[in-house]
Amino acid sequence: MTPPMPARTRVAPSPTGDPHVGTAYQAIFDLACARQTGGRFVLRIEDTDQARQVDGSEQQIYDSLAWLGLSPDESPQVGGPFGPYRQSERLPEYAAIAQQLLDAGHAYHCWCTPDRLAELRKQQEASKQADTGYDRLCYGMTRDERAKLPGFSETPVIRMLVPDDPPLTFTDLIRGEVACPSPDDQVILKADGFPTYHLAVVVDDHLMGITHVVRGEEWISSTPKHLLLYGWLGWDLPHFVHMPLLRNTDKSKIAKRKNPAARLMWFRENGYLPEALVNFLSLLAYPPVHEGSDIQTFDELVASFVWGKFATTGPIVDLGKLDWLNGAYIRALSDHELGRRIVAYWDEVSQPLPVDAVEARRIATQAAPIIKERLTTLRDAYPMLDFLLVDDDKLVIEDDASEALPEQTAEILAAAIQALDTLPEDGFTAEAAEAALRASLVDGLGLKPRVAFNPVRTAIAGRKVSPPLFESMAILGKARSLARLQRLRLAA
Ligand code: GLU
Repeated sequence: MTPPMPARTRVAPSPTGDPHVGTAYQAIFDLACARQTGGRFVLRIEDTDQARQVDGSEQQIYDSLAWLGLSPDESPQVGGPFGPYRQSERLPEYAAIAQQLLDAGHAYHCWCTPDRLAELRKQQEASKQADTGYDRLCYGMTRDERAKLPGFSETPVIRMLVPDDPPLTFTDLIRGEVACPSPDDQVILKADGFPTYHLAVVVDDHLMGITHVVRGEEWISSTPKHLLLYGWLGWDLPHFVHMPLLRNTDKSKIAKRKNPAARLMWFRENGYLPEALVNFLSLLAYPPVHEGSDIQTFDELVASFVWGKFATTGPIVDLGKLDWLNGAYIRALSDHELGRRIVAYWDEVSQPLPVDAVEARRIATQAAPIIKERLTTLRDAYPMLDFLLVDDDKLVIEDDASEALPEQTAEILAAAIQALDTLPEDGFTAEAAEAALRASLVDGLGLKPRVAFNPVRTAIAGRKVSPPLFESMAILGKARSLARLQRLRLAA
């Protein structure tokens, strides 16, 4: 078998706000294709709509892709041989191509004001005209001829001259032959000298040597315009892939306004592991690598990846499944790694901590085995561990815990303190603490374990339900455990 040609794929987000989950979704498959063929994955910033720019958005795109392990090989940030990778820095390229199209008669100037175009659209809608495109008033006119008519603007745009028989079908790698509606005379260069998406995407994909144009299915109907441009310019067509749109559980298109999970950062803010999110996204509309198992690594996807395996119906983003996957990934982490991730997450969300970073790391790592099974996300860790982090004299005893204390609380705590005091500082393990407390409270005082350990748990954790008690005491250590028992004894 001949090896595949190295693919050049790209993701081309617009920096118009928080990065969309769809950007990561596409990037996964772009990168899989590039890695599998020994090619390159490019990030291009499509900032031609200057009015919609949002400060910081470009940086968030870099950060979120890096977080997911989907960093591009070429981008405005890392550079590369086909730069600049930011469209606002490529205006001369677009202007030259637009001029070339004007010279060849494939494009023309249009001086119509936005008001005239709005009026035209209104009339077309009112008369239920089938053809709602631009009426070509300016076509064939010089500036001076056009200036004599109403609705004239001094700053013209450039439009494509769409022929009567434009190409209306194309081959999509996941959809096969696709039919599209006929385009109208699309603006390609705006009055401000910026290109529209349609000109810029074709010029850049060609000049950057992109072999696979992977984008959302909302661009299918625009593809005929792009086919025309490729044809006029004498450029080879790339492969086209129109990814199915991600949908909410009610089947509507996933959008940032309606669904917080449309924001890529939401997953990070809420304590999902990047590898779990990549795994989750890679299973949307694409079959699992291992039949019958949802757990797969990105490298396994790369090894078996084929565009043709995609489903084309918009997949539902079911966060219940992500929760399940995330829990499974958390349980697979070593205690050391889980501790590290928990503390890194606290740092990222600026969680105020009553202890320094080293102590937080020690507590999170030692507590990892006792909370692992109960964690869905890293976010769940703090409410489980806060009682271990807080200063002993600041531990809050919750009302329901204090109301449930048995009558003999003072006596139980006194006996517990006496028993634990005999243990050596460095032998204060969960097993040793449990054995000492059982001997003293259950065997010695003849109490039922439920009654005996209730005040101990309340003293240590301040609540009725907590992670395993003896392990928690071992994490606190002898001195802090005794201090907590003493504190509740004095209050009892
Ligand atoms: N800037 C376009 C978008 O954000 C990119 C479409 C494409 O990948 O061609 O949807």
